[in-house]
Amino acid sequence: MPESIIKKYYDGLKANKIIGTKCRKCSGYTFPPTTACEHCGSFDLDWVEMSGKGKMLFVSHNVAPGPNPRLTPLAPWAYGHIQLEEGIFVQAIITNVATDPATLRAFYEKGPVDVVADIKEIGGLPYLAFKTT
Ligand SMILES: [Zn+2]
Repeated sequence: MPESIIKKYYDGLKANKIIGTKCRKCSGYTFPPTTACEHCGSFDLDWVEMSGKGKMLFVSHNVAPGPNPRLTPLAPWAYGHIQLEEGIFVQAIITNVATDPATLRAFYEKGPVDVVADIKEIGGLPYLAFKTT
């Protein structure tokens, strides 16, 4: 039976790890993990643990319902665009940033800030969030 990519991802989060893939052909990272390299399409991939470290490029607040109903109790949340050390871009909830306009404006004016993964759980499933350091 082939290995489930989704199960591998969630099992990683439960173990406080962020699992992606690295391509043996072009060395590119793919996150979230999929069956093929997002850079060259190769299926020759290795599982890798991502660093969980990166820069939050900008942050806003959620203005639309969450992508999954299980996240609704978390609203309102700060939503950040993050570039991981591996070069991958991730959009995720930022757990320690308030959603008031003054706070969000201050982050906008400050520019990129360091963030680390802050894996949480709701509805029996973990989710990947980040926090500023
Ligand atoms: Zn590749």
